[in-house]
Parts: sequence; structure tokens; C-alpha cells
Amino acid sequence: MKTPLVYIDFDDVLCQTAHTFIDVVEREFGRRYAFEDIRFFNLEKSFHLTPQEYDTLMALIHDPGVLRIMPPMPGVLDVLNNWQTRGVRTIIVTGRPPATEPVCHEWLEQHRVPYERVVFVDKYSRDHADHPNVQLLSPHDIKDMGFSMAVEDAPAMVQFLVEHTAIPIALLDRPWNRELGFSHEAMAAQITRCHDWPAVAEHLSELAQCSVSPP
Ligand SMILES: [Mg+2]
Repeated sequence: MKTPLVYIDFDDVLCQTAHTFIDVVEREFGRRYAFEDIRFFNLEKSFHLTPQEYDTLMALIHDPGVLRIMPPMPGVLDVLNNWQTRGVRTIIVTGRPPATEPVCHEWLEQHRVPYERVVFVDKYSRDHADHPNVQLLSPHDIKDMGFSMAVEDAPAMVQFLVEHTAIPIALLDRPWNRELGFSHEAMAAQITRCHDWPAVAEHLSELAQCSVSPP
């Protein structure tokens, strides 16, 4: 692994998205949930929303005013800055709608996140509207981008990576990804559950050591 290239998801990997969603749900629908209550990636299910409430929530949480104020995940900036000094390259791979591109870059600049570029991927078949100057990729488009490791939290995208790639996955532990339906063999071979960003950094170091051939 000469120059590691790391895939980094945005929501709940780079920034603390779910905590912000909890506040929006309380404000809009008057129901307060705890972080541990979000047991499903499907917010409609986790927050017990009607289809109409779900549509309202999806519109609200992609509003630039909401995306702009999400705090970074604990420890992420230290790790990314350290990686930058060591030549580790990072590409942000997000399932956000292409229309959020300006506020994504604004947030990254605001927090001085070192990154090479942001790619928008239709991770969840949400059929996003086209947006000028932003290319929306299919998950299949990222298979051959040369990633050394992916940092993800979303079960659907982790499943795609396991089924279609051999990219090692640092799965950031979240209530909604604790019951993945994959085989133990797949889990052991490709997925490493990490409880925080220092653990993600540790995993990349282990992968780099493994890739060094003995003399
Ligand atoms: Mg995510």
C-alpha cells in the first residue's frame, strides 16, 4: 500500500448527522428520541414517521442551514490532518443529493478538512434530481477507483462493497449498523467494526503493515 487512498463517507462518518436529525424531529414533530433509538438506517422506521412526515424530514435535513451546522465527528480532524502529513489521500464519497454540493464544500472548508475531492453516489437508489456541474455516480463506478479502505456507516453501502469489491471496510459503529445480515466469514474478512476515529486510523495502519511484503 504505497500511497493509501481512503474512501470516507460524509454523514455520521465525517459529521454528526444523526444528532442533528434528532433535534429536527423534535422541533417539527414534537417527539424526542435518543441516539440509541436510531436502530434502523431507515429514518421512517427509527423515528416512527408517517410517509408525509418522512418526506418533510428529508426536505428539512438536506437544507443548507441544517447541513451547515453539523459538528465534525470526534477525533476525525486529528486523524485526517495526520493522514495528510503522511501522504494518505482521501476522497469523500457521499450519498447526499447533488444539490447539496455547495454546502458540502462550504462545510469542508469551514472545518479545514483535508480532502482530494467529493464524489456524489446514488447509494440508496433515491433517484436524485440532476444538478448542473455535479456528476452523480452509480455505486459500480467506485469499484475500480483504487481505494485502500472505505470508512462507512450505512448497511446498504457496506453490503454493496462486500458483494462487489474487496475493499477493506472500517465500519463506524452506530446503533443502525449493529445487526448486519452478512455472513460471519464476510464480516471477518472484509469488515472491521471501529468504535471511533482513532480505531479507524489504527485499522489503516494495520492494513498498511499487512501490505508490506516480507523480504
Ligand atoms: Mg453515512
